[in-house]
Amino acid sequence: MTFDPDALRQRYAAERERRLRSDGIGQYVQIEGRFAAFGEDPWADTGFTREPLADEVDVAIIGAGFGGLLTGARLRELGVSDLRLIDKAADVGGTWYWNRYPGIACDVESYVYMPLLEELGYVPTEKYAKGAEIFAHCQAIARYYDLYRNACLQTEVTEIRWDPADSRWVVSTDRGDAIRARFVSMANGYLQKPKLPGISGITEFEGHAFHTSRWDYAYTGFDLENLADKRVGIVGTGATAIQCVPRLAPVVGELLVFQRTPSTVDVRANAPTDPSWASGLESGWQQRRIENFQLLTAGGEADEDLVDDAWTSLAKAMPIAKEGTDPRASTAELADFAKMEQIRARVDALVTDPATAEALKPWYGYYCKRPCFHDEYLQTFNRDNVTLVDTHGRGVERITVGGVVVGGVEHRLDCLVFATGFEVGTSYAQRTGFEVIGRDGLTLSAKWADGVRTLHGLHVNGFPNCFIASIAQSGFTVNFPYLIDVQSRHTAWVIAWALDHGITELEAGDQAEKDWVETVVARSSVIAGRRETCTPGYYNREGQPSERLNQDSYFFGGPTEYADLLAAWRAAETLEGLVIT
Ligand code: NDP
Repeated sequence: MTFDPDALRQRYAAERERRLRSDGIGQYVQIEGRFAAFGEDPWADTGFTREPLADEVDVAIIGAGFGGLLTGARLRELGVSDLRLIDKAADVGGTWYWNRYPGIACDVESYVYMPLLEELGYVPTEKYAKGAEIFAHCQAIARYYDLYRNACLQTEVTEIRWDPADSRWVVSTDRGDAIRARFVSMANGYLQKPKLPGISGITEFEGHAFHTSRWDYAYTGFDLENLADKRVGIVGTGATAIQCVPRLAPVVGELLVFQRTPSTVDVRANAPTDPSWASGLESGWQQRRIENFQLLTAGGEADEDLVDDAWTSLAKAMPIAKEGTDPRASTAELADFAKMEQIRARVDALVTDPATAEALKPWYGYYCKRPCFHDEYLQTFNRDNVTLVDTHGRGVERITVGGVVVGGVEHRLDCLVFATGFEVGTSYAQRTGFEVIGRDGLTLSAKWADGVRTLHGLHVNGFPNCFIASIAQSGFTVNFPYLIDVQSRHTAWVIAWALDHGITELEAGDQAEKDWVETVVARSSVIAGRRETCTPGYYNREGQPSERLNQDSYFFGGPTEYADLLAAWRAAETLEGLVIT
């Protein structure tokens, strides 16, 4: 060992202590009211109008990102044709519609990340495809499965209410619609609502400011050419900033990166797709590759590693979900220290200025934050026009009319970009922007007031014919589209089964829901110890993890265990746990 575990434990604890704040997730402000401009859609045609709808569909799908697209695709495959996608964005794509910041790319290999490649006969152009290519793929999925037909885009849901008179949901929208639906699939996503730090003075800044998920190309220019003479600041150094900073640095006048906690930045090794490999792919290749990736990243063993990248090598060295509640009880802690030492050594190897290198080193357990991978980010700080403004874990102090204050020093800026992430841990209604009102006027907010309650992370007692897909109480994975696909297949299967069998209502039984909640709490508790010792972030409610987090979290089997469980449930065809009318 080239490190002292006790010294590292002490350093991690001290760094964590420095970042803890009493206001926890309350430190962020919602993008509404005087912050509403930060959430406006820069891509939509503001003049768009249409007549309100008061019709009926078999399935209303809320959200047209991967979740809505995959649910629509799987429903179409099962012969369900009467469906409607509804999304507040002006096109499909979800995450990939909203996030178009410079440098955006997927951080999981595109051959396993991008869904339905074989169905569409498409092979991505790179191992880690850029955002524009993924967005175009979303549009191609919508075209291929005819999901634009009947879709309501640029339409924001305001309420979804159960009407017991004829067992229909009524979807109300900001365009005056009252759409009736036999089934509702909630595919609203995760990390869907941008957030801003509640830094004093944030609305006083007189330069130009926006959030990375609403990149203002009208201001920056499509090739960022308008930034050539500007002093640009970026707040945040998470997965978004890691991709964005290296693209901004060469084209802006000056770049100031305001850092609170450094990310881990490991090797990316992107490469163009080899055409001979692509042309030799055999039928079933994508699902085999996905399953292989899922198995290996969940700490399983396989004869071959098809993806063979930073994620799969990581999981081999550092199993994710195998340790007990005390992170010190296993050799996993030593493996984690070793990995983090390697990450810190990479900073020393790539960053010339020793003080800057020191500030860029992360001091926490590897999985406390979303691991990042980039081959240019760290070297960006060797440029003369780039300055790292380290806030030593305290965050930006104040924003003024002219810039950003850290350590009492004002940094003057023309443009300020917030790479400050998305709401996590707030209520479902707050994140989606609407309430779901089930049987007997029960709201989803009231139902989940003390924690999420579902069967299989999809069905909720009191909310018949409604499928709520999210990470809550579903299978953990680093490859989110895999989970979405598992849930979409399941939702589509249950709906198709219900339609085939003339079922009027189906809903999670009370006991089945209780049992699933207990299973999730027990399984998710395996990482409770890690949450408590981790540096603050959105994984641990900014350092204030509560018992409730175990309930609102993933079902911590491997992702394939969750998928297998749902597949076995479908194969039995007894619909165990659902109450059926
Ligand atoms: P994050 O929440 O990960 O990062 C927000 C950043 O803002 C953090 O560095 C945070 O610091 C910083 N911050 C917050 N408040 C302040 C403050 N007051 N002063 C200074 N800094 C502040 O958001 P991202 O958008 O970067 O990423 C969100 C998630 O989106 C990722 O974790 C990942 O899951 C996903 N993503 C995926 C990508 C992909 O390729 N598939 C690409 C990009 C994102 P601190 O760490 O101290 O809280």
